[in-house]
Amino acid sequence: MTATTAAADASTNQTKSMDDIMALCKRRGFIFQASEIYGGINGFWDYGPLGAQLKKNLRDAWWQDCVMKGAGGQLGPNGKPVSIVPVDSCIIQNPKVWEASGHVGGFNDPMVDCRESKRRYRADHVRVMFSGASGTDPQRMFAFIEGDDDSRNQALKKMQKYLKDGYEPHNVGYSDLMSFDWSAFAERIVGPDVATPGTLTPPRAFNLMFPTVIGATGDIEDDKAYLRPETAQGIFINFKNVVDSTRVALPFGIAQTGKAFRNEVTPRNFTFRSREFEQMEIEFFCHPSETKDWYDFWKKWRMQWWESIGLGGDNLILREHDADELAHYAKEGAGTSDIEYRFPFTAPGYGELEGIADRTDFDLKQHKEHSGAKLEYFDTTRGELAKNGQPKGERYLPHVIEPSAGLDRGVLAILCESYTKDDSRPSPEIMKFHPRIAPIKAAVFPLVNKDGMPEMATKLTLELRQRFGHLGFIESDAKQSIGKRYARMDEAGCPFCFTIDGESLTDQTVTMRDRDTGAQERMAMDKVGDFLAGKLGVDSSSSLG
Ligand code: ATP
Repeated sequence: MTATTAAADASTNQTKSMDDIMALCKRRGFIFQASEIYGGINGFWDYGPLGAQLKKNLRDAWWQDCVMKGAGGQLGPNGKPVSIVPVDSCIIQNPKVWEASGHVGGFNDPMVDCRESKRRYRADHVRVMFSGASGTDPQRMFAFIEGDDDSRNQALKKMQKYLKDGYEPHNVGYSDLMSFDWSAFAERIVGPDVATPGTLTPPRAFNLMFPTVIGATGDIEDDKAYLRPETAQGIFINFKNVVDSTRVALPFGIAQTGKAFRNEVTPRNFTFRSREFEQMEIEFFCHPSETKDWYDFWKKWRMQWWESIGLGGDNLILREHDADELAHYAKEGAGTSDIEYRFPFTAPGYGELEGIADRTDFDLKQHKEHSGAKLEYFDTTRGELAKNGQPKGERYLPHVIEPSAGLDRGVLAILCESYTKDDSRPSPEIMKFHPRIAPIKAAVFPLVNKDGMPEMATKLTLELRQRFGHLGFIESDAKQSIGKRYARMDEAGCPFCFTIDGESLTDQTVTMRDRDTGAQERMAMDKVGDFLAGKLGVDSSSSLG
């Protein structure tokens, strides 16, 4: 491989190693396995000091740009500012919510169990390779997990051992197999983690919601409730409350961020598929005739937003769903698209970061029918004109465009995108976070820990904390050589370091060192705050940033 193609592969994430990224995440305190000292718990992850701040910065950027600025402070397709208000609803709601939304009856992923290994797999994630000429029945099939190279290689090895001369290996999807007569093939399939065929059960429905019991003496049948599998329903059930308690008028959106829980059959790929994760969702309510305009608007702007915080290039795509992929509610609507990112574990393919769907009036209609509440909106700007020339008004159930993003997947994409290896640098691993998202905004170092330099460093650190502490860490470090301190900050993704040296004592200047280029620049100490404000994109005249 030439140097140019290696660089291109790195920028498209093809050669980045998830093992390296996960090792750095643990070493520098971004992400830890949950319950690690007890051996962990599959599908759950804790965020360490840097990870918690990185996640907060991403959530805050979403909140400020989507909610407070109203889709970035631009005009909507109706020529008016975009109006969005937040809610913060409970994780546990009346279980009837999930009956109405379809989650109790329909939130099922077909899955298969392996009787021998006791492992469980999501049926649509299992693929099967088999030997045999086209048109003949395969005698042996080797199952593996899609996107998992180890599992695929194991299946390939097992198949090669079995393969007869002259037979070409073929790949078929598991779902294709499900359309065959299962009983005819089950005995020929070798499961992903075993050597003998016939250990997989037929695909069965598996409800992804976590049940819980309400009350100290509660009963699992009578007092059953669920941890929410999405934040969206907490918005729909509060639609009427928001309309009645605020001055919002259609079109407008309701947003919320928060935890969601899904008992995923096969949690994997680090935090990508977890059982506890956080969502950032907007339900944007509009007149049924306007859905196409708003759908197109949100698709475009959400792509721009992910680009604005540092994702982009070939690693980010917008993919419109084919008709056969559409959710039940989306069949009638303007469409569904995914914003997808090329993670190292999906490369050269992509994984979903955010879904943008026209949910029509499906959810409000369901809640109206199940609860009996009147959820129609009375729109005074529509309807026939009365004698006085004013519209008489129109009562209708709004349609909804939903941009629904995963916060943990966003953080993971940022970690993968930022991870850079540069062997020409003393510390080759650098996290090139966008300054707005970086958990550490700046570091201040006395060159040596004496001669008045620590005092000056403390003064500058405190000034910067006063001004930028609400955005992230301002670090101060006096230990080890200056090169080692820079290297530590590169790994943590701190964009700017400021060093106080002998010269600083006489002329009140400091050395600014840039993470991405390693370049150094001398600047007046009292200009450091404004410099940082400019780089972080915050108002330099305001002490609140
Ligand atoms: P997938 O097809 O990957 O299971 P989904 O289409 O079921 O995802 P949605 O229900 O649309 O996902 O949820 C919205 C967002 O929530 C997704 O785009 C993703 O970013 C995030 N998300 C969903 N499931 C998980 C999970 N198990 N772990 C982490 N994030 C998730």
